[in-house]
Amino acid sequence: MDVWHRKFRRYLAQTSDEPIGIAVKRAHGCWIVAKDGKRYLDFISGIAVSSLGHTHPEVVRAIQCQAARYLHTMVYGEFVQDVQVALAEKLVRLVEAAFQRATNGQWRGELQYYPTNSGTEANEGALKLARKFTGRRKFVAFHNSFHGDSMGSLSVTGRDVYRRPFEPLLTDVLFLPYGDVSALEGIDETVAAVIAEPIQGEAGIIVPPDDFLPALRQRCDEVGALLILDEVQTGLGRTGKWFAFEHWGVVPDILTLGKALGGGMPLSGFLARQEVMRSFAENPPLCHVTTFGGHPVCCAAALAGLHVMERENLPQRAAIVGEKLKTALLQLAERFPVIAEVRGKGLMLGMEFREKDAAQAFVRGCLEQGLIVGGTLHTEKVVRIAPPLVISDDEMAWALQVMERSLRNLPS
Ligand code: PMP
Repeated sequence: MDVWHRKFRRYLAQTSDEPIGIAVKRAHGCWIVAKDGKRYLDFISGIAVSSLGHTHPEVVRAIQCQAARYLHTMVYGEFVQDVQVALAEKLVRLVEAAFQRATNGQWRGELQYYPTNSGTEANEGALKLARKFTGRRKFVAFHNSFHGDSMGSLSVTGRDVYRRPFEPLLTDVLFLPYGDVSALEGIDETVAAVIAEPIQGEAGIIVPPDDFLPALRQRCDEVGALLILDEVQTGLGRTGKWFAFEHWGVVPDILTLGKALGGGMPLSGFLARQEVMRSFAENPPLCHVTTFGGHPVCCAAALAGLHVMERENLPQRAAIVGEKLKTALLQLAERFPVIAEVRGKGLMLGMEFREKDAAQAFVRGCLEQGLIVGGTLHTEKVVRIAPPLVISDDEMAWALQVMERSLRNLPS
């Protein structure tokens, strides 16, 4: 083991006994170069973060310019920071336009953005906002969901093994089966909010039946519960539309974003109508604050990243390239029966293997040849395929060759 790996093990807290362990030298576009000189094609985008590829020049320039202008000046919400305001305007406009598309122009309201640093913080904020606005306590969430690892988000994460060691968590949480319309009857007038991923990521890329999200929206309306859609993973073009809710014409009351938002910098947040968001400014004021949420350097990176996404129409690109990739993966599945299913939308795809050992051997085989694919948290049989949205045809073709070789080399 070289010195960096040794120090990594010695000084950094470990999250598992089997880290991937690539020692990063630099990363550009869809490629990560390791300290030993080996090059890797990134087919998971740092878990749906690097949608623009790594170190996109416009993002890097924006970071450099903003770093030279000002860094932290004051906790969030007190000073007028131009770059933060500009990002909020851009994001609000983007999401409002998506709400209009999703409802055929029926949606009314004015959104506001509350910036945070990570996906879990965005969901914490959304849950607190729902309680404060509705005056109700209970939450409904779904089996196999993932919403983050802080206490509140973990409380609505649908896996016992991850919740149990940290109990007691929030008590009033009801978990329902994901995708089951008949189960939505369980949502009643005591519910502050229902939180759901429009496509479940960590569950293994689970796309719900087409009637599920519309029925969920309707049930929330019937009982006066807020609908929180967690688009931390699905948002910002990943599924082939700006936001995954657009696939089903359903809009949330609170939308949470993270991961790709900062263009590689830590930025997340939630959006809600002004009258809902108002709950955080009164009774008492300052009841939900953050020191670093909306850091100016992260906002500058996000703003530059959104401009690139828009100019290059990356959501549409994800739809087109994703369709091609899915077709190619389905062809592999026909030839290699170890693959049980290929599913997903845009460039958020999953390959389910019949056996977990085969899935793990496939991931290792790809990695040895310089292709980074990975698993999802809640299942050992699914391989996540989530390349940067800027992936080229040549890079995709190369990745498919590597995958085919890995499949051929699987022990039978
Ligand atoms: N929500 C979803 C849907 C996620 O996929 C994740 C991360 N995998 C999170 C929330 C948590 O994000 P973070 O790790 O930034 O807290």
